[in-house]
Amino acid sequence: MAIKEPEVLNPYAVAVAQFDAAAERLNLSQQLREILRVPKRELTVNFPVRMDDGRVEMFTGYRVQHNINRGPAKGGIRYDANVSLDEVRALAMWMTWKCAVVNIPFGGAKGGVILNPRKLSRSELERLTRRYATEIAGVIGPDSDIPAPDVNTNPQIMAWIMDTYSMHHGFSIPAVVTGKPLSVGGSEGRMEATGRGVFIVAREACRVLELPFAGAKVIVQGFGNVGSITARLLHEAGVTVVGVSDVFGGIYNEDGIDIPQAVRHVQEHGSLADMPKTTPVDGRELLELPCDMLIPAALEGQLTHANADRVQAKLIVEAANGPTTPEADDIFRARGIEVVPDILANAGGVTVSYFEWVQDLQRFFWSEDEINKRLESIMVRSFEAVNTKREDQSCDFRMAAYLLAVSRVAEATQVRGIYP
Ligand code: NAD
Repeated sequence: MAIKEPEVLNPYAVAVAQFDAAAERLNLSQQLREILRVPKRELTVNFPVRMDDGRVEMFTGYRVQHNINRGPAKGGIRYDANVSLDEVRALAMWMTWKCAVVNIPFGGAKGGVILNPRKLSRSELERLTRRYATEIAGVIGPDSDIPAPDVNTNPQIMAWIMDTYSMHHGFSIPAVVTGKPLSVGGSEGRMEATGRGVFIVAREACRVLELPFAGAKVIVQGFGNVGSITARLLHEAGVTVVGVSDVFGGIYNEDGIDIPQAVRHVQEHGSLADMPKTTPVDGRELLELPCDMLIPAALEGQLTHANADRVQAKLIVEAANGPTTPEADDIFRARGIEVVPDILANAGGVTVSYFEWVQDLQRFFWSEDEINKRLESIMVRSFEAVNTKREDQSCDFRMAAYLLAVSRVAEATQVRGIYP
C-alpha cells in the first residue's frame, strides 16, 4: 500500500490507501470499491457566533457520513484549529471500519469545527456548540447519526448538543448523542471506555505475541481522555509508563512516572510541564525513546517515514485515529514491529457509546460492572477475530482488521442492493 508521503500529510489519502489495499486483497468488485471509497454525505456549515465582547465571528464546521449500510452513522465531533474536510472524511471512514470490526450496528461519521478551544470562553463555547448543533440538526438524530466526544470535546459539550436538539423537538431526546453526563442519560463507564479498550487490546496483543505485559515499559503520546486513562489503567496493572506527552511537550522517567500524580498535575497546572521526578523531553523525540510499547493517543500522522526508522518499541497500539502513515507501516513491518490498528485498538469508545445509545432507547440503565464486562467481552472477541484472520492470511494486524471490517460492510452494501 506504499504511497509517497507529501510534506503535508492528508489523512483522507491515508484512509483511502488503507481501504484500497484491503479491497485489492479481498478482490472486491470495482462497483463496491467505488461505493465504499467515498463518503455518502458531506455537510459544510459556515455560521456566526456572538463573542463575549459583542463581536460576531464566523466559524466553519463539518459533518460527514461515510457509510450507513450497517446502521445509523456514528462518530465523534472534534474542535481543533487543524480540522479540515479531508480530516473529517478520513475520520468518518475509519469509524465505518471500526464499528464493523467490533460488529456493532452502526455506520461511520465524524464532525469537526475549525477553532482554537483555548481562545474561547465557556459561554462562547456553549453558543458555538448550540449553533453548530442547530446547523447539523438536519442530518443528526437517534436513528440517523449519533455524535460523541473527540479531541477537545467532552460530556458538557455533548449535553449542550442533546439539549439543543431536544429544544428543537420540544421533548428530551438523549439518544441523539453519546458521551453525555450521567445525569442526562450518559452511561457508566463511557468516560473510561476508549482507554479501557486500548488497555484490553494491548494486553491481548502482548499475550499472543509473547511479549511481556506487566513490567513492560510504555510511552503514551497525548494525555487527554484516551491517553491519560490508558496510562492510568496500565500503571494500575503494573506496567511501567516511562514517558507521556501533551500538546506542550513530553516528560520521561525510565523508572516510571506516577500516573495518578501526573493526572492531578495536569488538573492543577493545565499541562504536564514541571511534573516532579521527570525529565522534560521534546514531544516528537519522546516517540523515539527506549520502550517496549508505544501508544500514540493524540492525533493522526505522528508516525511517518521521517521517524519510523528510529522508533524503538516492539509493539505500537494505536489509541489515536490514524497516527501511522502507510509508509511508516511498511517500515515497521520490515523492522518486525507489530502495529495494532486504531480501528480495533480504540473501538472501546464507540462500543460503550453503543451501550449508551441502547440504554437511552430502552430507558433502562446498566451498572458499571455490567458495562465493563460487556466491553471486555466485545474487545477480546474482536481481538481474537482479527488475530485469527492475521494468522490465516499471514498478514499484519491492520490488514487483518481491514479484511474483517471491509468484508462486513461490503456484504451489507451488496445485500441491500442499489436503490432504486
Ligand atoms: P483529548 O482532547 O481529550 O486529548 C488530546 C490530547 O492530545 C491532549 O492531551 C493534547 O494535549 C494532546 N496532544 C495534541 N496534540 C499533540 C501533539 N502534537 N503531541 C502530543 N500530544 C498532543 O482527545 P481524546 O478524546 O483523548 O482523543 C485522542 C485521540 O483518540 C484522537 O485521535 C481521537 O480521535 C482518538 N479517539 C478518541 C475517542 C474518545 O472516546 N474520546 C475514541 C476513539 C478514538
